[in-house]
Amino acid sequence: MALIETRDLGRVYDLDAGRVVALDHVSLDVDEGDFVAVMGPSGSGKSTFMNLIGCLDRPTHGTYRLAGTAVETLDANGLARLRNREIGFVFQQFNLLPRVDALGNVALPMVYAGVDRRTRREKAHAALARVGLAERWHHRPMQLSGGQQQRVAIARALVNGPKLLLADEPTGALDSRTAAEILWLFQELNREGVTVVLVTHDADVGRHARRLVRFKDGRVLEDHRQTPLDARDLIAAESAA
Ligand code: ADP
Repeated sequence: MALIETRDLGRVYDLDAGRVVALDHVSLDVDEGDFVAVMGPSGSGKSTFMNLIGCLDRPTHGTYRLAGTAVETLDANGLARLRNREIGFVFQQFNLLPRVDALGNVALPMVYAGVDRRTRREKAHAALARVGLAERWHHRPMQLSGGQQQRVAIARALVNGPKLLLADEPTGALDSRTAAEILWLFQELNREGVTVVLVTHDADVGRHARRLVRFKDGRVLEDHRQTPLDARDLIAAESAA
């Protein structure tokens, strides 16, 4: 079954200066378990597309089904619930709360989901262990390296058990060795069944996905499957360099 199903999805901005067609009739299915790299030049519609499939924005035309739910039928609360249950977000700048330790940052989405405190702590611990940071749960973001902060952000994205990880340039702020390690974490999570959609401007990152979708002028210019490179080879190459 397709986890993501868009039909003629579009987003138009009406500005004083005229209409901007940010996304133009995009029909795209993403199967559960896939790993998609989204590429394309600046202004091609990548963020608009990610905001729509992340239920952070509404289309001006077309339809979107996420895990079988017709997203346009939901009100703001329904949208937030669906987002919280099905989607984990990972950003280039980690977006962690600076005064809160790793455990508190990871537990945050469960506060919104109404999970009790004890369960929150257990699940947050498990998610931190999953990304290799069990020992660092009490560290604040400032006390962690960039790669560790991104791991905390990934643990936060995973904590509600989402089917879909949406990542916007998740390796963009990291040195190349650390970026390779984060890429490997995404590949492992994908192998465990999490669907990944990742925006990148880096062709080397894109080659680690199973499928590459390239946008141009708000449309899908190219969409092909590929044999993904193994990020462990990249880690080895970066270590040797
Ligand atoms: P990308 O992520 O590929 O750089 P975007 O999705 O951000 O592209 O933008 C696609 C187009 O939509 C661009 O022409 C951009 O200027 C326009 N756009 C994006 N967001 C807005 C907005 N809030 N208001 C007006 N135009 C926008």
